[in-house]
Amino acid sequence: MDKGTGALPPVNWGIALLFGLTFAGAVTVVPWYGLTYGYSGWAWAWCFLLLGANGMSITAGYHRLWAHRTYKAHWLLRLPLMIFGGMALQNSILIWATDHRRHHQHVDRDDQDPYSAGRGFWYSHIGWMLRYWETGRNDFSNGRDLMEDPLVTWQHRHYVALALTTNVGLPLLLGWLHGELWGVFLLAGLLRLVLIHHTTFLINSLAHMWGSRPYTDTNSARDNGWLAFLTYGEGYHNFHHIFERDYRNGVRWWQWDPSKWLIFLASRVGLASQLKRVPDVTIHKARVAMQLKRVEAAVTCPRRSRHLPDLERLKEHLSAEVAAFQATLAEWSRVREERVASARERLLARWEEARFRDRTREIERSLKVQCRRLSRLAAELSGPLPQPA
Ligand SMILES: [Zn+2]
Ligand SMILES: [Zn+2]
Repeated sequence: MDKGTGALPPVNWGIALLFGLTFAGAVTVVPWYGLTYGYSGWAWAWCFLLLGANGMSITAGYHRLWAHRTYKAHWLLRLPLMIFGGMALQNSILIWATDHRRHHQHVDRDDQDPYSAGRGFWYSHIGWMLRYWETGRNDFSNGRDLMEDPLVTWQHRHYVALALTTNVGLPLLLGWLHGELWGVFLLAGLLRLVLIHHTTFLINSLAHMWGSRPYTDTNSARDNGWLAFLTYGEGYHNFHHIFERDYRNGVRWWQWDPSKWLIFLASRVGLASQLKRVPDVTIHKARVAMQLKRVEAAVTCPRRSRHLPDLERLKEHLSAEVAAFQATLAEWSRVREERVASARERLLARWEEARFRDRTREIERSLKVQCRRLSRLAAELSGPLPQPA
């Protein structure tokens, strides 16, 4: 909204009609055609195959490769990511990635974050694209590195042709090949497009509203396994916002993150390299700091603590945990300083490297054990803990 006049910016009718008509078609024409003529297995197979290709190209390509540079990719991988990401009809890589970098840099600042969740579900989901908002203006100043990739600049120049060929030409061609022109077009063209739009958009809306915050509460991003399932791993958004340079979003081995698996597999066959990972110690540190903050909030909040049995014992327990955490962090900085000193003295022999690794592992173990202790302590504090301010 224009702060001076209170007037809303003009509607972007092209985009509004695109989203409106495709959505309306997907909820009316698609079921009507299915009930009248039926769809073949091929039509469904192409719908989900292309949906997966679009989704993974947005997550592993647009997001983790181009927007965040979490790994390097050979052109043989970048080419399909560029084509199928373009097919998801979410604008060119250049526009998508520069918007997204602004989202991370200014997250939750309504006047700078292009899809700030603070402006509500509708705005962050789709509303931000439906009008010419000031925060949605194209600005490539944070994307100069992207312009060095010829696939990115080619796609930006020929975006409309690519989008039409893949969204209209390809489904019609597949339909013609299977002798089911409209059936394949409606599922693999129309329904797929609406599904890929709204599942991706959930990351800007719901993933900033619904879920847990195990790593940080300095922004609205949430971890949510259900959303991760719908979005090829992107639902672990709380982790992603604090450690955006990590190629993983679901950092724990059991977390559903097919994009991380794809990037890892690509690295095994030489199509991806330099996969960035945040050190485990840093990740455990963030988790323990967040747990301590929560327990502290519960124990010190007069409204909650009044009902806690044995408050004094809990307070003592908490101070011991804080002290243990500080001691582990002090040890961690000592270990790092020693390593820097050794390197400076050119004495970083192989055995020292091994010792550094062993001690790092000990620190990781100590943080993990504390993490478990704090979970037990949190369980003791019955009822939901208040979110720290
Ligand atoms: Zn991101
Ligand atoms: Zn976000």
